[in-house]
Formats: sequence, C-alpha cells, structure tokens
Amino acid sequence: MNSDSDLFFSKKWITGVIKKYPTPFHIYDEKAIRENSRRLFKAFKWSSGFKNFFAVKATPNPYIVRILKEEGCGADCSSLPELLISQKAGVIGENIMFTSNDTPANEYRKASELGAIINLDDITHIPFLEKSAGIPDLISFRYNPGHLRKTKEGNVIGDPEQSKYGLTRDQLFEAYKTMKRKGSRRFGLHTMIVSNELDPSALIETANMLFDLAVELSKKLEIDLEFVNLGGGIGIPYKPGQKAIDIEALGRRIKRSYEDRIEKNGLPPLKIFMENGRMMTGPYGYLITRAIHEKHTYKEYIGVDACMANLMRPGMYGAYHHITVLGKEGAKKDHKYDVVGSLCENNDKFAIDRRLPEIKQGDIIAIHNAGAHGHSMGFNYNGKLRSAEILKKSNGSVIMIRRAETSKDYFATLNFAGSEFGDME
Ligand SMILES: *Cc1c(COP(=O)(O)O)cnc(C)c1O
Repeated sequence: MNSDSDLFFSKKWITGVIKKYPTPFHIYDEKAIRENSRRLFKAFKWSSGFKNFFAVKATPNPYIVRILKEEGCGADCSSLPELLISQKAGVIGENIMFTSNDTPANEYRKASELGAIINLDDITHIPFLEKSAGIPDLISFRYNPGHLRKTKEGNVIGDPEQSKYGLTRDQLFEAYKTMKRKGSRRFGLHTMIVSNELDPSALIETANMLFDLAVELSKKLEIDLEFVNLGGGIGIPYKPGQKAIDIEALGRRIKRSYEDRIEKNGLPPLKIFMENGRMMTGPYGYLITRAIHEKHTYKEYIGVDACMANLMRPGMYGAYHHITVLGKEGAKKDHKYDVVGSLCENNDKFAIDRRLPEIKQGDIIAIHNAGAHGHSMGFNYNGKLRSAEILKKSNGSVIMIRRAETSKDYFATLNFAGSEFGDME
C-alpha cells in the first residue's frame, strides 16, 4: 500500500493501541489478509486443487499461518523452525511444501515425519535424502532454467544462471528417472525465479515454461506429474504510482496457458500450486514507530524508536517503504527528511530525502508494506531488540501475537549451564 489513504486505522485508534503496546511494533490486518487470500483462490478457481503455500519466511508467526490455513493456504517451509511453526498452526502433511536448499539431514527428517511434500534443490540431494529420511512416494524438484530464462535487472533473485537454486534441465530429467527407479510414484515440478514481480508477463512466462516442461517430462519419461508449483514472487506496489498485479487477469492468462499446453497435449489434470509470501501479508502490515529526535546538521533527520532490526529492507536493498505521519495525512509535504533508526550503521535509514509533512517529537509514524519480510528479517546486531507483533482481528479486537524482545531474551543464549558470568539481566 503506497498511499497515505491506505491505512486501516486512524491516529486516534492507533493511539489507543499504543497505550497498551508501546512502539515500535508491527500491526497486521486479519480481515484484509483473509480477503486478499480469497481473491487469489477465486482467480484460480478454474484449476481444481489450486493451492497457495504461504511462504512462512515472509511472516513466520503461527497466528498468521493459521489465518491463511483457514483460507485454504498451505505452508512453504525451508527450515526446522518454519516446519514447527506450520505444525503448530495445524498445517501438516502435503499441506507443507518443503522447499529448502543446502538442507541439513535433520530438516529432511522432520519434513518427512510431517508428511510434507519434499522439493529437492539438487540432484545430489537424492542420495542424501535417501540416507537421512528415505525415499518418499511423492517427490518434487526445483528447476533452474539458467540461460533459457533471463529476468530483469533489479529483481531480488536475479539472473537464474547466477542463482544457487535448483537443478539444470538435464539434471531434472535424470533426477525423475532416478526417483522412479528408487520407487517414488508421484511427482511434482517447481521453480521460483522471480521475486517482487509486478509484470504479469514474467509470471505467465514461468507458467508457460513449466507447463511445456511438464509435457516433455511426461512424454519422455512416462511419468504423470501431479502438480506444478510456479513459486512465489508476486510483487506488491511499494512505491507510489506502482500498480498491484491484476490477480484475476493473471488467473485467466494462466488458464489459457494451461489449456494450450496441458489440455491440448492430452495430459491428465495437473494441479497448480504457488508459494507466495509477500503478496499474502506484505500490504496488510505496518511498522508503527514514534519520532523521538530531530536533528539538523548537513541534512534534516528524524530519529524514530524503530530501527533496521525491525525492518531491514530499506537499509539492505535501498527498498522504498511509504511513510505516513499520523494525523498529518492531508498536510503539505514541505520538509525533506532522512528518517533514521539508532543502529551504529549509516544505512539504518527508513527513508532518505523523503518529502514529508513537518514532523514533531512524539509524532506517530506508520511505515507501510511491512507485513512480509519485515519483522521476520529482524536481527540483534548492536544489541537491538525485535519489536512486538500485533494483530487487528476481523472482529475489530486487538491482540498481541508476539511480544517484544527484552534484554533477557538477548542474553538467553549466554545463560547456559557453566556460564561463568551467571545469569545476565
Ligand atoms: C521467498 C520464497 C518464496 C516467497 O517469495 P515472495 O516473494 O514472498 O512471494 C517462495 N518460495 C521460495 C522457495 C522462496 O524462497
């Protein structure tokens, strides 16, 4: 959401929330998350068995995963804690897609225990998986098209040939053959080559590519694929002027691609999976922070009580996140500020040279599109603590779904048996 008018709350309402939960915190809008998820499923209603496996890394909180589960989503996991979050949220079995890379054996074991769909990132993971968790009945592989597919510059994932993920085309054919020989009887195909993509053509191209490949695989290897997973990566409009992907139109275009490729070639029905994270929660979460300092040196600075530990994207990628000064939505943006956090790193800036209304100490600031890859990217460098997560429920009530960290949490890993400093508090 890239405009001051997108907020799902007023200054008065959020002030009430802050009385109970001090800033900074992330706040999510359950109703909007549900409505958006329904829109996605509706756009693919034509496709029997369509499912979005929510990429847990976007917002790894069981409350959020459970909301999305209730809307029909599965969970896309790539680590042990993400598997545990899914399990806690009641997402188990083939409602989990385990799309990991460089995977340790214990994670394969846990995924296998939960009955997750295992999506292998490399051909050498076949013997590794066999040894650590056995050969599953259902197996999927992540395809990396390499030079066959160029993505635009600026895409977070970048050029497939430079990306560490997935199997080459030749390896893919080999891999299915091997799995068939080893006893797997059910197969899926996956790729994930775009991220934060706002051009629907890139997503259609991915569908075309995977459908064509599914036809070729089934003809050459005499296997029936059960599903293709187009990956995540549907973008959201962070910057003013950017437009969200038209999900309904995307659904229609992928339907045409499916008819032209899968149906025309007489393949049995193929389920379409996706594993979007960003578009599921990103626009429906805000980082709420307060201006605590202003500083006038060579530039004008506003210091807030959040920092890069709460939202890393601006500092890490130079990503734009829209900022609203609450109560000043209509005011003239006649000041130019760097809005900064307290980290001893000069890239700890939520905005650089941003035109905003005049900000006074104590003003409440909402940083938009922080619902995905926001809190989850948090870290503890510089002794910074991660903030709380708050949920506005569909019935209007407000609950805390993760408390803020305290120094005690920060020291928890120093408080081990035998530690010579005793309990740090
Ligand atoms: C990160 C990731 C996703 C989700 O990407 P979004 O951009 O949040 O939609 C899906 N699948 C895999 C394998 C990922 O690594």
